Amino acid sequence: TTIYDWARSDEYHNSFLIPKDPAINYAITKSQEIGLPDISVTEAQGKFLNLLARSLGAKRVLEIGTLGGRVIPCSTIWLGRALPEDGHLTTLEINEVHAKVAEGNIPNAGLASKVTIKVGPAAETLKELNQTPAFDLAFIDADKPGNLTYFLEARRLLRKGGVIIVDNVVRNATVADPALKDPDNEGVRALLEHLKVDKEVDATTIATVGGFLYALKL
Ligand code: SAM
Repeated sequence: TTIYDWARSDEYHNSFLIPKDPAINYAITKSQEIGLPDISVTEAQGKFLNLLARSLGAKRVLEIGTLGGRVIPCSTIWLGRALPEDGHLTTLEINEVHAKVAEGNIPNAGLASKVTIKVGPAAETLKELNQTPAFDLAFIDADKPGNLTYFLEARRLLRKGGVIIVDNVVRNATVADPALKDPDNEGVRALLEHLKVDKEVDATTIATVGGFLYALKL
């Protein structure tokens, strides 16, 4: 099975489950013009985050790693749209150009009053961050060597019963290959090692190629 088969599979499922969205299409066009790398969550994953936030009744969401590329900023838009009128999303981004592009597209998605982008290295921003009431949901999708630091800070800032989602923990099954010692895989492994002993959270990996469907009763 190639990457193209999976793209076609995604398109097929999305054609039933995710109506075309002008704000997302606009963001895709913009990202293609600028030529940003294609590293955002897919639309299906974005909608998963959206359903999860709604299932939790989330009002306060933390995102670490704002900008995707294929869709600018895909996860931010999907998460932002899950929020009620008085909900808020804080998203952290190190790259000023990425933050500027995201800032341009957030109002177009109707989210100007609900999203704050904090520019700087996430580890530094998180150290200074205090959140009351606590976050309901955190989505971690920045540099992978930072995973464990981001996870511990997100856990500190999260309410009991809150959820942390970490992207890219399978990495095409390479995380499970101990011969591959690159910093990204090591970043995921450090988080897994930690989770083995962390008594404050319970976690599982969702390797999505098999595909699961998640439906929220409205
Ligand atoms: N969540 C986005 C989406 O799905 O649309 C994709 C985020 S992309 C995979 C990772 C982002 O994290 C990039 O914009 C990158 O500049 C940012 N980043 C990398 N290192 C970072 C750091 N130390 N602190 C904050 N952001 C960082």
